[in-house]
Amino acid sequence: MTKGIPVIKTPTKIAAPSPPEQENLRLVHELQVHQVELEMQNEDLARMRDQLGQNLERYVDLYDFAPVGYFTLTDDGTIREVNLTGATLLGQERARLIGRRLGLFVSTATLPAFNTFLNQALAGTSKAFGEAGLCLEGLSPRYLSLAGVGLNTGSERLCRVAALDITKHHRMEVALQASEARLQSILRVAPVGIGVVRNRILQDVNDTLCRLTGYTREELVGRSARQFYLNDEDFDWVGLEKYRQIVEQGTGAVEVRWRRRDGTNIDVILSSAPLNAADLAQGVTFTVLDITERKQAEELLKLSEARYRAIVEGQTDLVCRCLPDGTLTFVNAAYSHYFGRSPEDLLGTNITLLIPDANRAEALARIESCDAAHPRDTQEHQVVRADSAIRWMQWHNQAILNDDNALIEIQGIGRDVTEQRAMKIELQRLATTDLLTGLFNRRYLLTVLETEIERARRHGRPLALILFDLDHFKQINDTCGHDQGDQVLQAIVAQVQGRLRRSDVFARWGGEEFLILAPETTGPDAVALAETLRTALRALPRPEGGSITASFGVTTYQPEETLDQWLKRADVWMYASKRQGRDRVNGDEVNVP
Ligand code: GH3
Ligand code: MG
Ligand code: MG
Repeated sequence: MTKGIPVIKTPTKIAAPSPPEQENLRLVHELQVHQVELEMQNEDLARMRDQLGQNLERYVDLYDFAPVGYFTLTDDGTIREVNLTGATLLGQERARLIGRRLGLFVSTATLPAFNTFLNQALAGTSKAFGEAGLCLEGLSPRYLSLAGVGLNTGSERLCRVAALDITKHHRMEVALQASEARLQSILRVAPVGIGVVRNRILQDVNDTLCRLTGYTREELVGRSARQFYLNDEDFDWVGLEKYRQIVEQGTGAVEVRWRRRDGTNIDVILSSAPLNAADLAQGVTFTVLDITERKQAEELLKLSEARYRAIVEGQTDLVCRCLPDGTLTFVNAAYSHYFGRSPEDLLGTNITLLIPDANRAEALARIESCDAAHPRDTQEHQVVRADSAIRWMQWHNQAILNDDNALIEIQGIGRDVTEQRAMKIELQRLATTDLLTGLFNRRYLLTVLETEIERARRHGRPLALILFDLDHFKQINDTCGHDQGDQVLQAIVAQVQGRLRRSDVFARWGGEEFLILAPETTGPDAVALAETLRTALRALPRPEGGSITASFGVTTYQPEETLDQWLKRADVWMYASKRQGRDRVNGDEVNVP
């Protein structure tokens, strides 16, 4: 690098001094001094030259390896010079780029914008800025940020373009734009109102919020959220409450009433979340859900619930609900009062605990049999009250089903039927028995006869009838009075009853006429029984003297004969006994002497 810089050589020997030579010596000395100075300057120059060389190298390094691509372009966009980074940006060797137009590498979509940029840069009045997408063979698309400036060379129009790879940045920007567009579309279609507030001033609102409140976007953005509230108190309360919740749990939700632009009110749920949890001043996003209809429905529901509750609680009937396994889930006041236990004591316990052992299994089975196919059932069973009293209850059970017809619960409405049941039993007894003797009456016996005939027919079993009529009974009444006659009738019944089997049915057929239905009894056995009875009656004394006697007719049931025919035959035999002098037995199996 020292080439071209002049060097003055130093003389090696100096002559001895003489007076004339004195001047010469001085001159020589001066020359030497100058030479030293020159040598020093020479060294400085050499140092500067080295420095310059180093600077040039550094400049070339900086130029080539700068993170920015540099292009020198001619007025038609041809590349005159390019640094290494610029060549790398285009994915080409530097040498192959010189003389080619930069526009060749620019994507069609961004070419018009690039040309405009280039023209501005070449105009050279001020710096031009632009962007260009690169379309490079075998490489993924790149995006450049460009800055250009015209170069004043006098003869030709040139420009220098600095290009920065902003592919990553561009991709992010595109992604951001897409995400922004997505967000905007979500905001637009969201069925809830959405907005952003900063210091309670509305920064942004979506269409739904405008629709909900009746305001236009322009009437909302930049204004205070106060206009939504009915009064300052509500406005302040919501601000404090939401702030408190956000601080405590990150988000906040409150239910409040808003006033729409037209003066009507809506009930809303406001949910808020800060844009930056660490700095609430950056703003808070909120959503607004209109719950006016839900609130109204809730109010109506509350009202109807209260109405139904009053009906259920005011009932004198017992109302309860239980799960399919019998666990009580609801009892009304009457239920809890009846069983002498508080609802707290009852709920959660099994309904069968209130049922005596004997009734328990069946009662539970009946509850369990309730389902979609058999949604209603009526059952009677006994219950045990707190004082251990056992009572009869009648329950109307109803299956409570869900939408899929699956059983959820059973509702029972019950009332105490203890007295009613006793009365019914008594009525039944009265309807089937004879008051004076306590025997079954004729009506009841007729039904038993039908059943027994049917059974005898089906199984081919013997069935016998013994009909007897007291002899000259009228005479007792006439002689000793009706009461005496009644007593005799009772004594006769007692006398006969003691000689019958449990399966025999003894009934008062008429005034002083009696009938015994004897299942599983053959003709001869029935005749034998009739004889026994006849003898037994004779043991009873008549009040006016003598013995009680009766005339008997005995028959066994003949297949295919009707009840009337059978009864008629018994009657015929009985009258035969009367005719033959009374106090005797006549019948199918009796050999009349
Ligand atoms: P016979 O041997 O022909 O049967 O003569 P009888 O007197 O028994 O027959 P009758 O049919 O003439 O009279 C039956 C009497 O039985 C008439 C009636 O007053 C009496 N009698 C019917 N029911 C009762 C009753 O409940 N109490 C009393 N004390 N008498 C009754
Ligand atoms: Mg008689
Ligand atoms: Mg009679």
